[in-house]
Amino acid sequence: MNHIIPIPAFKDNYIWAMVKVNGTGIAVIDPGDAKPVLTYLHNNQLSLNAILITHHHWDHSGGIAALSDQFKNIPVYGPASENIPGLTHPVKEGDIIALPAFALSLNVYDIPGHTLGHVAYYGSEMLFCGDTLFSCGCGRLFEGTPTQMVASLDKIKKLPLNTQIYCGHEYTLANLAFAQTVEPQNAYIAAKIAAVKSLRAQNYPTLPVTLASELQTNPFLRCTEPTVIKAVEQHTNLTLHSPIDVFTHLRAWKDQFVS
Ligand SMILES: [Zn+2]
Repeated sequence: MNHIIPIPAFKDNYIWAMVKVNGTGIAVIDPGDAKPVLTYLHNNQLSLNAILITHHHWDHSGGIAALSDQFKNIPVYGPASENIPGLTHPVKEGDIIALPAFALSLNVYDIPGHTLGHVAYYGSEMLFCGDTLFSCGCGRLFEGTPTQMVASLDKIKKLPLNTQIYCGHEYTLANLAFAQTVEPQNAYIAAKIAAVKSLRAQNYPTLPVTLASELQTNPFLRCTEPTVIKAVEQHTNLTLHSPIDVFTHLRAWKDQFVS
């Protein structure tokens, strides 16, 4: 049995720590900063077993050197097609990462869009997806195309509905303001805003979130829904012909959106 613990970093990043009950070590996903990880390890008398990286951005990979320095010979998994100093195990879609210390195997998926080599890790109904999917939002397209991002999100949409999604940032409340602008009549979004406001008022994370909830509330997973298509058409004054068109203009709308 594993617990997944958020270690907050920077302003709104989460470094996800996989902690085995009664175990002696943890694995971390996207340690952008070594310091909060080392503090967590020290406070809980644990060591580090493995590092997994979803993409090259510094706020997800910046802690590799300091952690590898302190914990020699631990595996550092990350996307083979990105230049990330310190990776020991480059991975790509189809690879399976065995983490025997956690009795867990993780499947690697290529999910380009936010960056070109971005990967996700999926296993035991948990998805670690970095900056590709956020609760009620998605990552900006810094390197990839809308076509790539839509294909990546479609891969995530095919996972089991009860998949617990662990995203790289606490952006949920801001994303919901945009989601409600797109779909003002969506009752799931209204209910989610109330729930998320209550969590944030107590400084609790809004993650993980289930795929089932995201399919009801995340406009970027809803580009084939008539309500979303109509909203984007009205906003752009265009007639849109494909989910990729809808996604492209929805993403551009969000990029300009001020709540
Ligand atoms: Zn990023």
